[in-house]
Amino acid sequence: MHQLTLAEIARGLADKKFSSEELTKVLLARIAQLDPQLNSFISVTEDLALQQAKAADVRRANGESGALLGAPIAHKDLFCTLGIRTSCGSKMLDNFKAPYDATVVAKLAAAGTVTLGKTNMDEFAMGSANESSYYGAVKNPWNLEHVPGGSSGGSAAAVAARLLPAATGTDTGGSIRQPAALTNLTGLKPTYGRVSRWGMIAYASSLDQGGPLARTAEDCAILLQGMAGFDPQDSTSIDEPVPDYSASLNGSLQGLRIGVPKEYFSAGLDPRIAELIHNSVKELEKLGAVVKEISLPNMQHAIPAYYVIAPAEASSNLSRFDGVRFGYRCEDPKDLTDLYKRSRGEGFGPEVQRRIMVGAYALSAGYYDAYYLKAQKIRRLIKNDFMAAFNEVDIILGPTTPNPAWKLGAKNSDPVAAYLEDVYTITANLAGLPGLSMPAGFVDGLPVGVQLLAPYFQEGRLLNVAHQYQLNTDWHTRTPTGF
Ligand code: GLN
Repeated sequence: MHQLTLAEIARGLADKKFSSEELTKVLLARIAQLDPQLNSFISVTEDLALQQAKAADVRRANGESGALLGAPIAHKDLFCTLGIRTSCGSKMLDNFKAPYDATVVAKLAAAGTVTLGKTNMDEFAMGSANESSYYGAVKNPWNLEHVPGGSSGGSAAAVAARLLPAATGTDTGGSIRQPAALTNLTGLKPTYGRVSRWGMIAYASSLDQGGPLARTAEDCAILLQGMAGFDPQDSTSIDEPVPDYSASLNGSLQGLRIGVPKEYFSAGLDPRIAELIHNSVKELEKLGAVVKEISLPNMQHAIPAYYVIAPAEASSNLSRFDGVRFGYRCEDPKDLTDLYKRSRGEGFGPEVQRRIMVGAYALSAGYYDAYYLKAQKIRRLIKNDFMAAFNEVDIILGPTTPNPAWKLGAKNSDPVAAYLEDVYTITANLAGLPGLSMPAGFVDGLPVGVQLLAPYFQEGRLLNVAHQYQLNTDWHTRTPTGF
């Protein structure tokens, strides 16, 4: 039963092959048995899950239907969940029980999902390896000595290991797409403003966006349908109608114009990944797509711009964690300054502290123009590059990451080495565009992802292309040994 996708679960529940309660029990037992190897959950919410599963079964028995009614999922532990610990992977929030549900959590619960738990993540979503979590590193089910990617690494590892069919994640610079690529999943970062950020603990507010992680594009469509939509409580939420994502999955790719940026195939890309990306292009050509080389000339500036803007916003967002209002407070402070200093010094891990310092520096008088303002100008140039490219092509295709999953600890002494892994993903966040990663093959037994980018609000197009690709390839069906 644990191999079923969301779409298959919906059919099984509708046909009364099993109940949500039965399925939920099977998955909870699997989590108890297998998660100690992976560490993909921070909290397992067994009681809530069983109560939601029973309620979903009652709703179905009363004639209700819906693709998510009775579907087991989990939330990245930065979505606020009423009365349940919402830690953000940090000691700072280890004791924080949210007083309300995030909009995404509330919408999915209303659609009938069953919350199995809260998944592990890099502390405050800062990272690409899920090694900065206060709750310990997450392991990649494809090779337990390797990282699963981050920062949504717990969601990715859990879904890849078939502990559950799908989970939520968030993506500020790649944190849905990169772990999806490194664990053989399909992951979608929606257009900025498509999914409400209300109740999502902020890292970099102008870049953060929630989205689905699942094994197939079809399942991402189902989960996104439950997450997307205007939310008056989020001032950056966009009031655009939500299309039926499942309805557009079967559109033909005949004549689809795919742009492949020449800058993507530079020295930093593992040549074996380059070959798999070229193979995926050929596969899409067979389905009728037309391929064209394009250029994104300002891409080389994306990492420096992102690593100014994201820490700048983080330094502001994380100032609320002061030992007074939320979370961790140091023992016996001698005065207010001591309280602030020690609560933040003891509550935040080293990567979070590094980013707060970088961000505060970039925003300080005298450096603001040189760093922050300059980075914002680069951000505009990157957006302009995409707008020019989308005049010529319908989607942009390339690798999701320059390398497959690295060994645990391999980049710990050099944070910049990890930052460089974000080279293909962060541009979509800087421009606010939707992006998807899907499985495209393996290198040394480790999964490789291909990334698709589309114009604003064309999540349906991304899911359509990925679904057609998945109807004609079987990379996404491969299961890691032992799971
Ligand atoms: N790896 C990037 C960072 O560390 C992106 C993280 C994310 O998308 N949350 O900032």
